[in-house]
Amino acid sequence: MGGYSVTYSNFVKDPYKDWVPDDETKGASKILQWAYKEYGTNIVYACSFGAEGIVLIDLISKTQKNADIVFLDTDLHFQETYDLIRDMEVKYPALNIHIKKPDLSLDEQAAEYGSALWKRQPDQCCYIRKIKPLEDALSGAPAWISGLRREQSVSRSKTDFVNKDERFKSIKVCPLIHWTWDEIWDYIKDNDLPYNELHDNGYPSIGCIPCTSQVSDSDHSRAGRWAGIQKTECGLHTSD
Ligand code: SF4
Repeated sequence: MGGYSVTYSNFVKDPYKDWVPDDETKGASKILQWAYKEYGTNIVYACSFGAEGIVLIDLISKTQKNADIVFLDTDLHFQETYDLIRDMEVKYPALNIHIKKPDLSLDEQAAEYGSALWKRQPDQCCYIRKIKPLEDALSGAPAWISGLRREQSVSRSKTDFVNKDERFKSIKVCPLIHWTWDEIWDYIKDNDLPYNELHDNGYPSIGCIPCTSQVSDSDHSRAGRWAGIQKTECGLHTSD
């Protein structure tokens, strides 16, 4: 694969590293325009349909109407998440939203690894149901898009617009790095976008049912993910 100026193998640094955006999207629109010009429709957006995902889909639809979007369907999501995806498919009919399933069904996983693997070996469960499917979805793609924001966690605080992704041997483009949680919600409300109704019921960050809990207003937005165990990421955004 070639023809791109920024690739996993030639990456030196984010071409926008020293750029200070001053537009109303805090650089997101310009980065998306750059990414779709650079990689065309070969770039994939891996969307979890959280609040950031809704903003990114809206911004992407203004840049590349027929963009490819992948949802990693672990078979363990809330019904509200599946309902939101249907709503987004109606609102953005030109987008190509792909539902990517793991190789193993839940029954097959239970037969091979025992029931409720997420309780005993959540990293293994995330590998089977999220990481391996994304590896497959990114096969042949020179780059992917993620909705990471710097304020979400210490590990995300150094994220650049354009990153060398060691985990998936790819380029990871993160247009929303400078957005705050309040700005995400201002955009959703100002543009009257659909969103997961669980956000109104104490779920700022929403993943699989067994690994997502309600939080209080004073908790960090990701406090409800894998609450009570030593795990803060599914592994999509770590290098090993
Ligand atoms: Fe399994 Fe939980 Fe990871 Fe979902 S978030 S894939 S249920 S460990």
